[in-house]
Amino acid sequence: MITFLSGGTGTPKLLRGMQKVMDRHEISVVVNTAEDIWISGNHISPDIDTVMYLFAGMLNTDTWWGIRNDTFTTHEEIMRLGVDEFIAIGDRDRAVQIARGEMLRNGLRLTNVTRSLCDRFGVRENVLPMTDTEVTTQVETDLGLIHFQEYWVRARGKIAIQKVVRSFSEPPVATEEVLLAIDASDAVVIGPSNPITSILPILSCDGIKSALRGKFVIAVSPFIGNAPVSGPAGALMTAAGFEPSSIGTFNCYDGIPDVFVQDIRDPVEVSHSVRFDTLMVDEEKSEGLAREILRLIDIR
Ligand code: GDP
Repeated sequence: MITFLSGGTGTPKLLRGMQKVMDRHEISVVVNTAEDIWISGNHISPDIDTVMYLFAGMLNTDTWWGIRNDTFTTHEEIMRLGVDEFIAIGDRDRAVQIARGEMLRNGLRLTNVTRSLCDRFGVRENVLPMTDTEVTTQVETDLGLIHFQEYWVRARGKIAIQKVVRSFSEPPVATEEVLLAIDASDAVVIGPSNPITSILPILSCDGIKSALRGKFVIAVSPFIGNAPVSGPAGALMTAAGFEPSSIGTFNCYDGIPDVFVQDIRDPVEVSHSVRFDTLMVDEEKSEGLAREILRLIDIR
């Protein structure tokens, strides 16, 4: 078994390749939940949904969020009624969020809610939220402290951020399921996700770092040069006090990876790193990188 630490874009691109070259029951994914948010009374868990929809074969891979060919009738109607629903939620996607919200309100753990939804969609992989309690990534801006989604979706990342803060009412603890998955794994792969908003929240859950000790850990950089392949990772790295590059990513992971993978085009040198083509522009590229990573695990 291999356990992946994932956000909602870069690592899912790698998982798209992994599901082709691995037994799907041998894949466990620990997913970031610090971007979760309640909207219009329902629970959005963007990274879990991307991973779940990918494995269910229904992800919109043009955007890497939402369900392919979804409609937006309810969203349009809600906006017309004067509700400021700042994230465009598809109709089928909303059904998932309604179901999740309902199950959570009924007292189910997010882990069990996710398992139930994955079962309904015929997902064979083990998709695990990093924790069962609420934790939120916020950013400090001139408008004050705002939810990461407010910054990235509503403001389109166009406002300056000074600091990244993770808030919670109780310190997040890795679930037993997460710790068991890591324990049963031959290797752990930190995919090319946003180090600040996707990976650090997972690594900060109590129990994760000690579970990773003694495991063979591979991390893939989401940066090429001084810019991420996509998204706001550059601004977030700077706000969190790291260089926006592969070096900053390496430092951010604080000695946890045994092997650090950089793109063949990356002009930044991280000593002892391994170089592959990590730009997963299509399924073939995802599969190519997946095979290289499996080879690293086999020859270790
Ligand atoms: P989010 O939850 O939507 O922010 O998604 P992730 O955290 O999983 O992934 C965002 C990161 O993926 C960004 O920092 C991108 O630089 C990185 N990324 C996206 N596509 C690729 C790719 O093809 N290759 C690599 N190396 N990184 C990628």
